[in-house]
Amino acid sequence: MDFILPILAIAAAVFLFVALFRASRTYLEFRGERLITCPENHKPAAVRVAAGKVALEAAVGSEQLRLSACSRWPEKQGCGQECLAQIEDSPKACLVSTIVNRWYEGRSCAYCHKPFAEIHWHDHPPALVDRERKTVQWNEIPVDKLQEVMGTHLPVCWNCHIAESFRREHPELVVDRPATSSRLSILH
Ligand SMILES: [Zn+2]
Repeated sequence: MDFILPILAIAAAVFLFVALFRASRTYLEFRGERLITCPENHKPAAVRVAAGKVALEAAVGSEQLRLSACSRWPEKQGCGQECLAQIEDSPKACLVSTIVNRWYEGRSCAYCHKPFAEIHWHDHPPALVDRERKTVQWNEIPVDKLQEVMGTHLPVCWNCHIAESFRREHPELVVDRPATSSRLSILH
């Protein structure tokens, strides 16, 4: 009977490995903020999946997708969460980070015209500029307004956002050279 204990230990290790693998895969797949079209009013809404809880359920193979946050809550908190079908269909496509990264693809900065190559979100996040030429950062924009803003704003690189913010906040310290008058030609 000496062989039973090692077999049980191996079975437990395999079970634990599979559970951890399922949990971490589910967590990575469903974490993060997402933009969906609310089936109730057909307008964009920002949601988050309860990724931690769903991951724990996935560990034992009985996960059920549900939300932990929605921009329409608490008003619509009792909704049927039908938008989860959109997330199940394409979990990555509705991620806010995917949508924003795609918006920069193949585009250039409205000020310096430098194309956006690899984006460094952690230290040099790019920004946007509105029609009044005010640059804004993504964290100032509510996620449910993302698509609206993408249609009205232009992309701006981090360097130009910092320079323009300084120019706006400290006009007395900025001396414009004549050549800079054409900088914003793309916005006219
Ligand atoms: Zn630029």
